[in-house]
Amino acid sequence: MPSSKILKGTDLVHGDEVVRDNGSHVAPAISVSTTFRAPNPLVEDVPSWDNVELRNPTRHVYSRYTQQVSTRAEHVLSRILDGYALTYASGLAASYAALVFYQPKRVAISEGYHGCHATIEVYKKTKGVDLQIIGLDDEFRPGDLCWLETPLNPTGESRDIQYYADRIHKVGGKLLVDSTFGPPPLQYPFKFGADCVMHSGTKYFGGHSDLLCGVLVVKTLEEWNVLQHDRTFLGSMMGSLEAWLLLRSLRTLHLRVPKQSETAATLAQWLNAIASTPKGQSYDGVPGGIITKVWHSSLQGTDARGFNPRKQMEGGWNATFAILVENGEYATYLPHMLKYFVPATSLGGVESLIERRKDSDPGADSRLLRLSIGVEDVEDLKEDLRQGLQKVTKVKAKL
Ligand SMILES: *Cc1c(COP(=O)(O)O)cnc(C)c1O
Repeated sequence: MPSSKILKGTDLVHGDEVVRDNGSHVAPAISVSTTFRAPNPLVEDVPSWDNVELRNPTRHVYSRYTQQVSTRAEHVLSRILDGYALTYASGLAASYAALVFYQPKRVAISEGYHGCHATIEVYKKTKGVDLQIIGLDDEFRPGDLCWLETPLNPTGESRDIQYYADRIHKVGGKLLVDSTFGPPPLQYPFKFGADCVMHSGTKYFGGHSDLLCGVLVVKTLEEWNVLQHDRTFLGSMMGSLEAWLLLRSLRTLHLRVPKQSETAATLAQWLNAIASTPKGQSYDGVPGGIITKVWHSSLQGTDARGFNPRKQMEGGWNATFAILVENGEYATYLPHMLKYFVPATSLGGVESLIERRKDSDPGADSRLLRLSIGVEDVEDLKEDLRQGLQKVTKVKAKL
């Protein structure tokens, strides 16, 4: 099993060396071919398809099975995620595949990204599947799958992976960690007992808001082979162009994520200082009272059980977090009063985004804004938020 514990550019740039088939290209060639010419048994020994190792294919047959660039991207992901990684058409396609793989009797899940709850509901409709859903803090039983998202959407707060790993393993269940908000080098869930790590690769791995991708990472090749088989017949392979964009983007993950993380932590502290300023006073040019709460794992402190997210977030704090503003009008208008933050859903891209969360998740508080911090200069982002917060109280709604 690969064992890189820090995120090295060398792994990102060269982690696919064993499956490179470039000719003289430096960047991979873009190939959208779904099908591949069969080797000629008149001129060469052709290994039977049964003997082709799908993780390191010596030839490709049909792109629903394997394809060169997605294979390369999976090698890089395996290297940096410390396991065996498989890519999917989207994060939710990966979530569905995890349910098919574990076939749990019950799923323990509380809050987090609403789409994963909806995927579980779809899986539940399968004839013969009698799946129950319980809360993370309910009692676990054998056959349970604990579905832990950390850091958590939309607040960016951390949950204690080791605690849930110990509890679920005590009854012989499995722990899946949705680590989308904590890509390498921020956290490594296998270190704390995860059995399977899931990512929406659409977010930080893609990193440029231009591809959909999901990733499951397991600890053994046997598990990977089962997932690979299932993916082939669920048909949830990532597209070839997406694979190309993903591999291109992975080369710079170690430059993007630490930068986004550092800027986000600075902004979360700054916004928190504003939130702590009473009405009638101001902090750094921003009147108090507009922001009422800031969530971020750096602001979480130690909980009653002694868990501090610092232990888990070894490579930096999450770059996506949330704030609460005084009223729904501020949350509606502020995203449209900023120069650099784009009013849009999603996260993890090079451009900063701000979203009134209710627009994507009907269950969210109408005052809640989620911020995804990109790679822009921290002072420019601060100035952008400052001018927006100074003006938002003066907006007259168009009636
Ligand atoms: C976006 C997201 C997903 C779903 O991923 P898609 O690529 O959009 O299918 C799952 N979990 C979390 C935490 C996410 O942010």
